[in-house]
Amino acid sequence: MEEIKVFCPATIANVSCGFDVLGLALDAVGDEMTVRKTAKKGIAITKIMGQDLPLETAKNVSGVAGMALLEKSGYQGGFEIEIDKKIKPGSGIGSSAASSAGAVWAMNELLGKPFSNLELVKFAMQGEKLASDVAHADNVAPAIYGGFTLVRSYDPLDVISIPTPSELFATVIHPQIEIKTSDSRKILKTNITLEKGIQQWGNVGGLIAGLFKNDYDLIGRSLEDHIVEPIRSILIPGFDHVKSSAMGVGALGCGISGSGPSIFALSKGENVAQRVAESMKEVYGTIGIPFDIHISKINTEGVKRIA
Ligand code: ADP
Repeated sequence: MEEIKVFCPATIANVSCGFDVLGLALDAVGDEMTVRKTAKKGIAITKIMGQDLPLETAKNVSGVAGMALLEKSGYQGGFEIEIDKKIKPGSGIGSSAASSAGAVWAMNELLGKPFSNLELVKFAMQGEKLASDVAHADNVAPAIYGGFTLVRSYDPLDVISIPTPSELFATVIHPQIEIKTSDSRKILKTNITLEKGIQQWGNVGGLIAGLFKNDYDLIGRSLEDHIVEPIRSILIPGFDHVKSSAMGVGALGCGISGSGPSIFALSKGENVAQRVAESMKEVYGTIGIPFDIHISKINTEGVKRIA
């Protein structure tokens, strides 16, 4: 195989209680990427459609993640990359992660799959480091593994795939306001009380158990964040209103996607997810902030071949 076209899913990191450790992949929104082998060594990004992003290998996350793989692979040739960017950078649904994960997954396929998913996550994390200064894995892990993932430990890296109940749907609204990831990190406190810690790890355990047991009520009870959301939500106009409206029409839970400004809700069944979308739209319609909205099944495959 000389060329491959892949779908690179958008992802929701944190998932309320799982700050920096939980993530999930979406099905209805993602980039497309074409990667082909070349005789010339190195990586050339030849085309980016949809967004104005750097073509230089060292400034584009797909180039940086791809170079990390290429250097380890021993492959004497190189790759060309074309990106059709559908996920807006800075939206909080893993725009950079989709490119990092897509690049390394596609290259691994073209080389006959020498690397494991865990190794691919490590390469993709180098792209994340370029985008946000932190080599976090909570978006690239679900983008590569699919479904829900838990990053149990960073040193050593330990990624665990969590099963996805089949009727689970996500609704994601992206209000068109700008929040810098660095700003939304800066405002966080670095200490938490024991009381808050107990609540939080109770909820992380509950969410994981709920996903394993297909227990939607338990999933709903566990989708709570007592540490990050109360602080970060201040940066998102209308957050409290969107959340109460979504919960009012039956969402299991609602929180900030990644570092925002996107807000996500999880629901049992597509009909509820649709009602949640309508309730969210109404809030931003009234406030007068333009938005994008997505309703999606959870993507259990991660990056996938489409041609
Ligand atoms: P999101 O908040 O949606 O996850 P990020 O903040 O992770 O988005 O990433 C956006 C940053 O990464 C921007 O500064 C952007 O210029 C940079 N970047 C570099 N290459 C890419 C790429 N291929 N796709 C998206 N963002 C990229």
